[in-house]
Amino acid sequence: MGDTFLTDPGSLEALRAQFPALAQRIHGAPLAYLDNAATTQMALPVQGAMRAFEQNDRSNIHRGVHTLSQRATDAFERARIELKRFVGAGPKHELVFTSGTTDALNMVAHGLSTPGIQPAWLQAGDEIVVSGLEHHANLVPWQQVARRTGAVLRVLRPDAEGRLHVDDLKPLLNARTRVLALTACANATGERPPYEALLEIAADAGALTVLDAAQAVAHGVPDLSALACDFMVFSGHKMYGPMGTGVLAGCRAALERLEPLRYGGDMVAWVSATETSFTELPARLEGGTPNVAGAIGMAAAAAFIDQVGRARIDAHLGALREHAAVGLAALPGVTVLSLDSRASAIVSFAADGVHPHDIGTLLDQQGIAVRTGHHCAQPLQEHLGLGPTTRASFALYNTHAEVERLLAGVAHALKVLQ
Ligand code: PMP
Repeated sequence: MGDTFLTDPGSLEALRAQFPALAQRIHGAPLAYLDNAATTQMALPVQGAMRAFEQNDRSNIHRGVHTLSQRATDAFERARIELKRFVGAGPKHELVFTSGTTDALNMVAHGLSTPGIQPAWLQAGDEIVVSGLEHHANLVPWQQVARRTGAVLRVLRPDAEGRLHVDDLKPLLNARTRVLALTACANATGERPPYEALLEIAADAGALTVLDAAQAVAHGVPDLSALACDFMVFSGHKMYGPMGTGVLAGCRAALERLEPLRYGGDMVAWVSATETSFTELPARLEGGTPNVAGAIGMAAAAAFIDQVGRARIDAHLGALREHAAVGLAALPGVTVLSLDSRASAIVSFAADGVHPHDIGTLLDQQGIAVRTGHHCAQPLQEHLGLGPTTRASFALYNTHAEVERLLAGVAHALKVLQ
């Protein structure tokens, strides 16, 4: 099968050269890195942008009059503008830097359940709807908030194949529904729910809507301006950017409702020995010295994605996933999850009588990196009755030859293990 990415096969090679980690050998075989849903490799232009900051402009932001501090502040704020552009933010939106998706979701869950200038958005007896597809990062904070506030957690359950249905949401909504927390792509299965419609229905019912775009951001980036989305979150390390970086973007009015999780420097307007008044967004939610190089790297990653071209990336990832899903489903005793779901870059599978860790270990011996286990989504794995699975996930630098190696590697592992 030819690579769908670019008509000129040399171009894919040139692109792979932007990710030097891919050129190494693992246990004597060329690395086939198929664990991109966990973390992608970081592109050279991203590394270059971060290094340039550290070498030339490193200084603390926002409070210095000297040149380096001004350069650092400008670079940090330019990164914010670039990422706003990347997610389609309009005039009513704002974007806050975080240390990742988990951090951003905790900021939202904490911020909506803690009284501050305004009463908390979530009160005892209010209802929070989460989907059954969520990563633990978009479930556990809501469970804890429900425990702490006396709010009620309701679950939008997927069907037996792991799909969410728009018609199942309405019966869960009522006058007490205050939050819908939903993924744009399930990391365990690759399922992409109809989040556009689900968010709209919840917003119409008066809820604030939270979209976990951690998996969607490198493939099928959600467009904030086209969505009834109050809070959208994602991480830099799943979009060719740095680890420990992330974004909380959303409607300014909704972000203003959040009581800060972190109090300290940079987020205050005026402080006396006994009282404080807080500054405006976005600084109000960014207490302390931020990861400036990380923000710059994340923006460089967004620019890199757009330079390569979203449509081309999406077509390439869809084709790789289809190739892998069809090939794996043809193997004896293999069940592929969400075979014909809306295209994602993830294919997750279970094999009769074989533990995924054994498959993953045998694949590693052939230089093929996949992830095995519950993928931080235990409720979904239990719902599907499959237990732990093996997950291959693709990035723009993967090739159909690597998919062929995966298929041969799994076939070999099954022969050895079954
Ligand atoms: N949500 C989803 C859908 C994810 O895939 C992940 C990462 N596996 C997270 C949240 C958490 O992201 P992070 O670890 O970068 O905070």
